[in-house]
Amino acid sequence: MTAAPPTEGVLVDRYGRVARDLRVSLTDKCNLRCTYCMPAEGLPWLAGPQLLGDDEIVRLVRVAVERLGVTEVRFTGGEPLIRPGLVKILTEVAALTPRPRISLTTNGIGLARLAPALRAAGLDRVNVSLDTLDRDRFTRLTRRDRLVDVLAGLAGAATAGLTPVKVNSVLMRGVNDDEAPALLRFALDHGYELRFIEQMPLDAQHGWDRASMVTADEILASLAGAYALTPDPAERGAAPAETWLVGGGPARVGVIASVTRPFCGDCDRTRLTADGQVRACLFATDESDLRGALRAGADDAELARRWQAAMRGKRAGHGIDDPAFLQPARPMSAIGG
Ligand code: SAM
Repeated sequence: MTAAPPTEGVLVDRYGRVARDLRVSLTDKCNLRCTYCMPAEGLPWLAGPQLLGDDEIVRLVRVAVERLGVTEVRFTGGEPLIRPGLVKILTEVAALTPRPRISLTTNGIGLARLAPALRAAGLDRVNVSLDTLDRDRFTRLTRRDRLVDVLAGLAGAATAGLTPVKVNSVLMRGVNDDEAPALLRFALDHGYELRFIEQMPLDAQHGWDRASMVTADEILASLAGAYALTPDPAERGAAPAETWLVGGGPARVGVIASVTRPFCGDCDRTRLTADGQVRACLFATDESDLRGALRAGADDAELARRWQAAMRGKRAGHGIDDPAFLQPARPMSAIGG
């Protein structure tokens, strides 16, 4: 059967950018407490009725895929592996026509056990977050002694075929900024693709400080001490990561430099929070309530129209450099990273 084309157009903003990549947060809760993300005691979590149910999530993803031209769906959180309905959601999203590519961003805890079932349900690949290879450091940074589980999760994902397995690392000054070459060595040895992410002003504690963040230039300088890096000739497209070939390739390493080398002009993302709010940007200060419309009986065409209207409000850039920049009220964990 040939794939049916989207019937009601696309998600296009005032600047002509088209969103094809949907990030869906499945929960705002997490089983780690990374110091740069949330406080030790956690956050005031969304209450049960506020959260979209599994069927509501699938319905909104279906609207995005079938009516709005979304071709990539990334599940995230919070920690998406702790959502009980994850396998059901994946199975139903993988059955959509046209079938989107499906990925998941996770801290890797529990992935060793879950990977085969996730793969069987239709998950294509994973991004696993790992900021340090040192167990004591990991325990201080995440406030949980779970490095062994994360490493097992990575290996389990590769064995289950959730490839390419990508590793996301955030470097912080005086915490793990000496670890870039070791993280790359680890990724190369295991066949994972490593991406460094510049730390962004999205922490719940509002502790981000531009002067102390580790920049893409610093990360590259640190890697260059150990590896020969050359710009990747492959077309970057809308990918957030700028990539370099390591030792002439084919292995690559990427840097997502949202702060010092913003790529908003090529952004193709739209976001759905676990409580059914559409966000046109990670840094948006406004949201559009699809949950309310859905529960009030809106049909799919109406949901699609609302999503398109939200997209038209997308700003040209995230504005971190603007003196009037305001950090969004929701932290990264509640938006979906
Ligand atoms: N729990 C999952 C995980 O650990 O991958 C998914 C959610 S987590 C918020 C997604 C990614 O956002 C992780 O790689 C994490 O390191 C990153 N992250 C969290 N806060 C960040 C910040 N302020 N700046 C940059 N990345 C951040």
